[in-house]
Amino acid sequence: MASTTKKRATCSFCGKDEKEGARLIVGPGVNICGGCVDICRDFLEKDKTPADPAPAPAKGVAAPPARAAPARELKVPGPVNIKGFLDQYIIGHDQTKKSLAVAVHNHYKRLTQARDNTEFADVEIEKSNILLIGPTGCGKTLFARSLARLLDVPFALADATTLTEAGYVGEDVENILLYLLQAANMDVKRAETGIIYIDEIDKIARKTENVSITRDVSGEGVQQALLKILEGTTARVPPQGGRKHPQQDYIQLNTSNILFICGGAFVGLDSFVRQRQGRRSIGYVDPQAKPPTGLSAGGLAVEPEDLIRYGLIPEFVGRLPVVSALSELTEENLVRIMVEPKNCMIKQYQKLLAMEKVKLSFTDGALREMARLALQRKTGARGLRAILEHLMLEIMYEAPGNQALRNVHITKEIVTAQLENPGCVTPLLTTA
Ligand code: ADP
Repeated sequence: MASTTKKRATCSFCGKDEKEGARLIVGPGVNICGGCVDICRDFLEKDKTPADPAPAPAKGVAAPPARAAPARELKVPGPVNIKGFLDQYIIGHDQTKKSLAVAVHNHYKRLTQARDNTEFADVEIEKSNILLIGPTGCGKTLFARSLARLLDVPFALADATTLTEAGYVGEDVENILLYLLQAANMDVKRAETGIIYIDEIDKIARKTENVSITRDVSGEGVQQALLKILEGTTARVPPQGGRKHPQQDYIQLNTSNILFICGGAFVGLDSFVRQRQGRRSIGYVDPQAKPPTGLSAGGLAVEPEDLIRYGLIPEFVGRLPVVSALSELTEENLVRIMVEPKNCMIKQYQKLLAMEKVKLSFTDGALREMARLALQRKTGARGLRAILEHLMLEIMYEAPGNQALRNVHITKEIVTAQLENPGCVTPLLTTA
């Protein structure tokens, strides 16, 4: 592998070129920049740390199963590397990538500082849980999942709408921690460094701004119940899940270093943001301020008071200091999502068909048509998957063993025909 750099070569992993300050190592058919080399080194070094001794369980606390994996040393990539990694999987949302890269870097720095007892130990760095605001299917969960993958920490996904205050029908908030423990193979230490994504957090907003009138079970009560685990507490997690029971043994899990990422569409939040902005600029509530539009606050500068007006209690907003609003995906974004990410849907289909010696390609018109249809469905990139799966069903059914189908070239007409009249595209394919 030569260590020289070529003009206008780009990193095969993150796509950066020398103009963006990336120093490239150029190999036969593949290039890699310094940032990606660092990420690879982090990955390779993670498994080398010897196991930490397991702490003895306290009385009344279930011992974690003996299959706990050896503790891995957590290496914290720099914000630029984190963004470079996210760029490989997530299209758009540049500003969110940057703020998450910084927040996640600082979060895990804080964690390693506490562990290493460094010279900075006297300054306590506060935990930076994250709130992602954006329409459905724009990539909020993907952000949380990708970060967990980059850092190689356990990841759990929860839905705020299934949670209830203790004593009511539904799941106790501690069950979220059980999901994380399960993702960590019941290794408590590893779970304590994990990431939890709580979806639909906007659905537990209080229904009215007037604090004194309501204490609704599904909203404020759940926010109250989540407060402690978001801030950091030693939670007692029932190993079997379900409701807490006095006679039950518990696993103790410290949540101080767990990174919580909450996400929600917050439909109508943009109107509160605009009203506030109008109020600030002209001194009274702007009569022109738009009523709730049904759009999320993508790209808007959301402030804590907007979230409080929306129905989150101030203490809850206080536990989510990093707030980022994601915009709705555009047609252009959707086209890129189909073809650019490392594990994008089209590359996966191409690989599957290549195994059958079938070459699959799409015209630009076909990709745009699918993106246009997905936009109409208003489910973000989720709609794309449904459309593509529908389209590919016929091809995946016909291609294996069909000698006439060695070159499948999908045009806009094929997309329209298959979606309007499933099953009718075979003649189009064989002549394509
Ligand atoms: P959300 O949590 O915002 O509702 P998801 O993260 O679950 O949306 O997105 C659903 C799927 O759509 C993802 O798994 C991914 O395949 C795709 N997707 C969504 N947004 C993006 C994006 N910005 N870049 C790449 N893929 C995306």
